Amino acid sequence: MAKVLNDACAEDRTLKIIKRFRFVFTGGTYNRLFKGKAAGNQRGRKIRHRLSPKAKKSLRKDCGIIVLPPKEDGGVIILASLITQRKLSIVWPFFHPHTAHLLYPDNLALLRLADQWRVKKLLNTGSVNEWLKCEAKRDEKFNLQKPEFKIDFPSGTEMHVSVGTSSDDCLQAYPVPGALHELECDVPLLKDSQLERATIALISHDEMKQRMLDFVIDYEHELAKFRAILTTGTTGKLIREASPRLRNKVKPYHSGPKGGDIEIATEVLLGGCNVVIFFVDPLHPHPHIEDIRVVFSSCMIKDEVPVLSNEVQARAWMDRRTRGI
Ligand code: PGA
Repeated sequence: MAKVLNDACAEDRTLKIIKRFRFVFTGGTYNRLFKGKAAGNQRGRKIRHRLSPKAKKSLRKDCGIIVLPPKEDGGVIILASLITQRKLSIVWPFFHPHTAHLLYPDNLALLRLADQWRVKKLLNTGSVNEWLKCEAKRDEKFNLQKPEFKIDFPSGTEMHVSVGTSSDDCLQAYPVPGALHELECDVPLLKDSQLERATIALISHDEMKQRMLDFVIDYEHELAKFRAILTTGTTGKLIREASPRLRNKVKPYHSGPKGGDIEIATEVLLGGCNVVIFFVDPLHPHPHIEDIRVVFSSCMIKDEVPVLSNEVQARAWMDRRTRGI
C-alpha cells in the first residue's frame, strides 16, 4: 500500500485525482505507513515500506485523513459499519495471502458488506492502479462528502472528527452521556436509575424470533426501564409490533444480513451498549456468519459488556439483575 500511494502521489496526474478523495485508515495501517511503527505481535519490527514525505504531506494536507482505532480495538469493525452507513464508497483491503488475514471474522465481514452495499473493493496493487488509470476520475464525482465527518448512532453515541491536517487526527468516540460502562455493582439487582441509563441489544435469528418475542413479552415491564433497546432490523420490527409499550424504546438497525450485527458491534465498541442478548440459531447456516462472530468478538474487546447468547442465560440474567430473583 505504501508503494501504491507513493507512486500515486509522485505523479502529477494521479496526485490530482488522489487529492479529490478522503482517506480513512485503520490505526495499525496508519501507524505503519505514516510513522513506521508496527503493532501487535510485530511490535518492534522494522517497517520496510513507509510513505514518502510527499505522500504523507499530500494525504494529510490535501485529502484529509481519518484514523480509526487499530484492528485489535475494533478498527475494522468500525470501518465496516461506515459501509452500512453509506460513508465509504471504495475500500482497499490489502490482505496478506499467507497469514491468517482471511480467517478473521472482521476482515471477512468487511469484504462481505462491501459486496452487500455495492462498495468497490480494490484488493491489490493492480486493482488500485487500474482504478487510478480508468475509473477514479469518474468516481471522484460521486459521494463527495463534507469536510466534517460525523456519524450518529441510535443509542446517542457519536463519532466525530474534523478531517484535518495534524498528525494526531484521530477518530473520537464519545460515549453516550451518562451511560454506564459496566453494569457491575455490589448487589445483583440493578436499581431503576441504573437501568434508565443503560442500553440493551436484542438480536434473534429467524428460527429463534418467536422465542425472542416470548422473552420480550415476559420481561416487558423490566425492558421498559432501559434507556434504549438496540435491535437488528427484523427483530426490532417484530418487537415493535408485539409490544406497543416498547415501541419507542426500540431502535432498529439494518437487518442482520445487511449489516445490523456490525452496527450493534460498533455500538458495543464505542460504549453505546451495555448488554447484548443474542438468540443464536445453532442449526441453520447463515450467510452473514462472520458478522455474527464479530458481535461476540466486540464483546471480547469490550469485555465488561455481558453477552447472553441463548435463552436460558438471558432469562437468568434478567431475573437476577432486574427482578432480584
Ligand atoms: P434480523 O437480523 O433481526 O434482521 O433478522 C438478525 C441476524 O440475522 O443477525
